[in-house]
Amino acid sequence: MPVDRADAPLYVRGSSLELLSKCGLSWFLQQRAHAEGARGSAVVFGSAIHALIDGVTRGELDATPESMTARLREVWNEAGYDAAWQSHRDFEQALMAIGRFLHWHTARTDVRVASEVGFDRVVEILTPSGRGELLRMRGTIDRIEIADDGTVAVFDFKTSRGVITQAEAREHAQLRYYQYAVARGLLDARAGETGIAPLRPGGAELVYLRLDAGRGDTSNPKTLGQPPLEGEREEWATGVLGGGLDIVRSEAYEAVKGKHCSFCAMHLVCPLQPEGRVETA
Ligand code: SF4
Repeated sequence: MPVDRADAPLYVRGSSLELLSKCGLSWFLQQRAHAEGARGSAVVFGSAIHALIDGVTRGELDATPESMTARLREVWNEAGYDAAWQSHRDFEQALMAIGRFLHWHTARTDVRVASEVGFDRVVEILTPSGRGELLRMRGTIDRIEIADDGTVAVFDFKTSRGVITQAEAREHAQLRYYQYAVARGLLDARAGETGIAPLRPGGAELVYLRLDAGRGDTSNPKTLGQPPLEGEREEWATGVLGGGLDIVRSEAYEAVKGKHCSFCAMHLVCPLQPEGRVETA
């Protein structure tokens, strides 16, 4: 019996698309078998920071270090840590990350901004095998900025220590997924709120709050940009989205080794890793 119903649209999270395009097995274990990796403290860290950022962007929290520190104390969950010293260390790092965000955010004046922007709609995608496949596109974008001409800049806040290259950011599947959602009109409800229509992709950016911008700038976070998804958009959709849907529909979840293995939480059950071969033997 197939894991995904044959008569229903497939659901692939934008945040998991990058993984699906790199290693089908890791994607399946995490997205369909719901195997858990060791990421409790990372979740605590990321959740706390995203909650504070959302509060500031919506104007519900003062954009001051004092206000943010007080709120961080309220939402911080030590239970996600194995040891108190780890929690204290990450609390300090969270304060630094929030400081970078505040600096970056308060410099972005005169922008029409929205936080935690959700979308959810079924769209048809042409797959590389030539079939039309229904995809349920659903997600929440950390931040968007809407310009007067209807272009939408997409931002994704990262709280991990790992960083990708600028070349990888240009092709980053999660950012492309969000830009494609804009292009297909999935955020057009926002157009109604602003009176600006139609909305169209205006580029995307990864914002690494745990890292300095570099080159002497210790106040701002590191950012990596992606150009607007324009002429090549359907070609991208068929290749990456459609290619991913072909894998999910065929359930051919192969392990594929690469640089991404360094960040994979599924080492212990992976047949291509020495520790996985022992565990599964
Ligand atoms: S360790 Fe590498 S090959 Fe194995 S499941 Fe993870 S990403 Fe795939």
